[in-house]
Amino acid sequence: MKRVHAISWELIDCINESARSCYPQEFLCLTRNNDGIIDELLLIPGTIYGDSHGFLNMWMSPVNANISGTVHSHPGYSNEPSDADIDFFSSWGGVHIITCQPYDRSSWKAYDSNGRELSIEMTE
Ligand SMILES: [Zn+2]
Repeated sequence: MKRVHAISWELIDCINESARSCYPQEFLCLTRNNDGIIDELLLIPGTIYGDSHGFLNMWMSPVNANISGTVHSHPGYSNEPSDADIDFFSSWGGVHIITCQPYDRSSWKAYDSNGRELSIEMTE
């Protein structure tokens, strides 16, 4: 599996659109990558927080080996991870994206599994 190094603009637009339509609820979803570029959302029924055991099995599945991490939205203006977010990230590994209001191309950040900010290149 190639290391994730970039994310597509199109996917960011798609995430923000979904975040807007879920507002004031959080939008939550998995991401997949192709050749190290995160460019696909993997929608999941229910919530990750409520059913982490089931998702862990899915994460380990070889079929989903190119899952990159998670994405979720915050209904406010902060894209910093909460303590609960960091706990959640640490049990998954990978790259975790948080977007916040106003849900535009500059309102997201990416974090590693310890909640440290990652710089990820943007690509078409
Ligand atoms: Zn959060």
